[in-house]
Amino acid sequence: MDDGKPVWAPHPTDGFQLGRIIDISADSLTIEPLNQRGKNFQASVNQVFPAEDDVNKHVEDNCSLMYLNEATLLNNVRVRYSKDKIYTFVANILIAVNPYFEISKLYSPESIKQYQGRSLGTLPPHVYAIADKAYRDMKVLKMSQSIIVSGESGAGKTENTKFVLRYLTTSYGTGQDIDERIVEANPLLEAFGNAKTVRNNNSSRFGKFVEIHFNEKNAVVGGFVSHYLLEKSRICTQGQEERNYHIFYRLCAGAPEDIKEKFHLSSPDCFRHLKAGPLKDPLLDDHADFNRMCVAMKKIGLDDTEKFNMFRVVAGVLHLGNIDFEEAGSTSGGCVLKKTCGQSLEFCAELLGLDEEDLRVSLTTRVMHTTAGGAKGTAIKVPLKVEQANSARDALAKAIYSRLFDHVVTRINQCFPFDASAHFIGVLDIAGFEYFEHNSFEQFCINYCNEKLQQFFNERILKEEQELYQREGLGVNEVHYVDNQDCIDLVEAKLVGILDILDEENRLPQPSDQHFTDTVHSKHKDHFRLTVPRKSKLTVHRNVRDDEGFIIRHFAGAVCYETTQFVEKNNDALHMSLASLVRESKDKFIGELFENSNHSKDTKQKAGKLSFISVGNKFKTQLNILLEKLHSTGSSFVRCVKPNLKMVSHQFEGAQILSQLQCSGMVSVLDLMQGGFPSRAPFHELYNMYKQYMPAKLTRLDPRLFCKALFKALGLNENDYKFGLTKVFFRPGKFAEFDQIMKSDP
Ligand code: ADP
Ligand code: MG
Repeated sequence: MDDGKPVWAPHPTDGFQLGRIIDISADSLTIEPLNQRGKNFQASVNQVFPAEDDVNKHVEDNCSLMYLNEATLLNNVRVRYSKDKIYTFVANILIAVNPYFEISKLYSPESIKQYQGRSLGTLPPHVYAIADKAYRDMKVLKMSQSIIVSGESGAGKTENTKFVLRYLTTSYGTGQDIDERIVEANPLLEAFGNAKTVRNNNSSRFGKFVEIHFNEKNAVVGGFVSHYLLEKSRICTQGQEERNYHIFYRLCAGAPEDIKEKFHLSSPDCFRHLKAGPLKDPLLDDHADFNRMCVAMKKIGLDDTEKFNMFRVVAGVLHLGNIDFEEAGSTSGGCVLKKTCGQSLEFCAELLGLDEEDLRVSLTTRVMHTTAGGAKGTAIKVPLKVEQANSARDALAKAIYSRLFDHVVTRINQCFPFDASAHFIGVLDIAGFEYFEHNSFEQFCINYCNEKLQQFFNERILKEEQELYQREGLGVNEVHYVDNQDCIDLVEAKLVGILDILDEENRLPQPSDQHFTDTVHSKHKDHFRLTVPRKSKLTVHRNVRDDEGFIIRHFAGAVCYETTQFVEKNNDALHMSLASLVRESKDKFIGELFENSNHSKDTKQKAGKLSFISVGNKFKTQLNILLEKLHSTGSSFVRCVKPNLKMVSHQFEGAQILSQLQCSGMVSVLDLMQGGFPSRAPFHELYNMYKQYMPAKLTRLDPRLFCKALFKALGLNENDYKFGLTKVFFRPGKFAEFDQIMKSDP
C-alpha cells in the first residue's frame, strides 16, 4: 500500500476516509487525511485498506473491484446508495440498503416481469434476482431452496421478504386464491406480531420462516409459516416511545360501534397496557390499518366468528391489564382488588369466559400443599402480596396473548393447505445479531440463533466458492475460515451448555439468576468465548454487579448479558391455579388455546409448585429443525442494511453501516474470500479493458487466448491468478497490481 496512493483509513462517523500514509512504525501508520491536510492521525495497520483508483466508480458485484476489503465494499455501497441503487451483490450474496422512500418502479409489475427467468448478474442487483435464482435452482436442481434475510431492526428484512413472496406468487402462481392468501397473511401476522419501536415503526417482534410450496409442475400450491420467539414482555410493558402490538390500538380505533360496545372498548388511554407509550404515531393510521387487516382476514378465508373470537381475546387482555391490587389491610397479609379497577374484572371474566370470582381468587391467592404435621397434600390457599398478584396478572396476560398469536399462525396455515408438494422456497425473516446497552435473555436467544446462521452461512459460502473454483476448473481447495462451533456448543451443548444449565436452575425448588450465573462461570472457567464482566465504569454506572451476568465473544463482537430475569423469562408455564382456570374456561375458543398447556413432560403437576416449560430449549429445538431444513435446501442470502438511525431517506451513516456489515458476517466473507481468489473478471471484460494497450496483432486473438498471452508476456507470478473457463481469478490485490502494470507499461 505504501506507494503514495490514497488509502482508506478509519473515520469516526463515515467509517472510512481517504488519506495518505506518511509514516510507518512497527504497529501503526501515520495517516494524513486527503481533505484535511496536516490533521494527521495514527491508525493500526489492519484498519487501513487500499483504495480503488476511482473512488466514485461503482460496480454491481463487489467482486469485480480490484481490491476487495471492507472499505471498498462500504464505498461501493455508498456510491450506489447515493444514486438510489440500493442493491449490491458480493458474489451471490445480496446487500440491500433500506432507502426509506419508495423508489419509483423498483418493484413494479414490469420489474417483476423483467427478472423472470434471467440469470443472476444479467440485470441490476435486485431481491427479485435472488427470488428468481431460487426458483430456477429449485426447478433445475429439483431441490427446495431457502432465502435467508437478515439485518438489524429497521433494515428492511420484512419488506424484502414480502417482495420475495409477492414476486414468487405473481410469477409462478396459478392465479388462484392461494397466491393471494400467501401475500395477505402478512397484514394479519403484522397486526398481532408487530409494534412501533424506537428502531422501526413497524417492527416484527417475532421471527418467521415462510415456505411457499410448489407442485411437480413448479406452480405454487400452498404455504406454511413457522414462527419463533414472540416478544412477550411487550404485552405488559413497553420501552419509552414504544407501543404495544398494533392490534390493540387498531381494535380501539377501528372496531365498529357494536363491537366496541360488546367488548367494552374505549380509547387506548383507558388501558394500562397501552397508555404508557405513545398512543398514536403520526405515521400510523390505526383506523385505516384496522380496515386493511379485516380485508386481509377475509381474503385468507377467516369468517366473522373467528375474527371476533380473536378480537374478543385481545379485548379481554386489555381489561385484564386494568386490574390492580392493594394491600388487604387485614391480618392476612394478602391483597384485594382496588376499587378504581371498576368493572375490569367483570369485563375480563366475561370476555374470556371465566367465572368472575374464580378469576379474582386465582389472581390473589395461590394453592399450596402443606406437609405440616404429616398431613401430606392438604391444599390451602395462600394469599398473595400485591407484587405477586401483579406478576400473576401479567403472566396470565402474556400467556393468553402469546397463545392467541400461536393460534393466528395456526389458522393462517390452515388457509393455504396443500396435499402434494414437490419442493418449497422458504424465506427466513429473523432478527440479526443484537447488542444493546442492556442485553437480556431475548438478545441471548437471538444471538445464539445468529451464531448458528452464521455457521451455516460460512459453510455455504465456502462451499459455493469451492464449487465455483471447481466449475471453473481451477483445481484449488484452499479457502479457510474461523469456525464458531465452540460458541454454539457453549450455548447448546447437553448438560454443560448455558441453556441446559438454565433449565437445571429452573427445576430447582428455589431457582435464582445469581446461582445460575455462578454455575455458568464455574462450568466454563477457561472457556475462550466466555468471561466474567469486570467492574468497569460502565457497569457501576448501570448498577450491574460483577457477577450478575456473563460476556460472550460472538463472531460479531463481545456482548455482556445481564442475567437478572433469565430464570423467569425461560419459563413458559403458568402457575397451576391460573393454568387450570383458563383451561377450564366456559369459552370453547379460550379453552382450546390452552388445551396443551403445562402438559410437557417436564411438568410435575403439583399444585402450588410452579411448573416449568423451557423457552430456551423449545427455541433450540425449533432452531435445529430450521437448520436441518436449511441444510437440506439450496440457499441464498440477503443482508439488509439500515442507512441511518433517524429512519430518513438519503442519509448514509458510514460507521453505522460498516458495523452492520461486520455484524452480518459480510466482512468475514471478504476475509474468507481473501483466502481464495476474491477478485474476478470475465475474459471479455479484460480484453475490452486492455486491448487499447496491446499491439493489434494480439487483439485479434479471442479474449481467453488474449489474456493468456498477455499474462505470459508480463511474466506474472502463476500463484497470483488462475484461469477459469470464463474468468480470470485473482489473489487479493493482484488484479490491481496487474492493472497497474498494464497502465504504467503500455
Ligand atoms: P425490519 O423487518 O428489518 O425490521 P422493515 O422491513 O420493517 O424492517 O422496514 C422498516 C421500514 O423501512 C418499512 O416500514 C418501510 O417504511 C421502510 N423500507 C424498508 N425496505 C424498504 C424498501 N425496499 N423500499 C422502501 N421502503 C422500505
Ligand atoms: Mg421485521
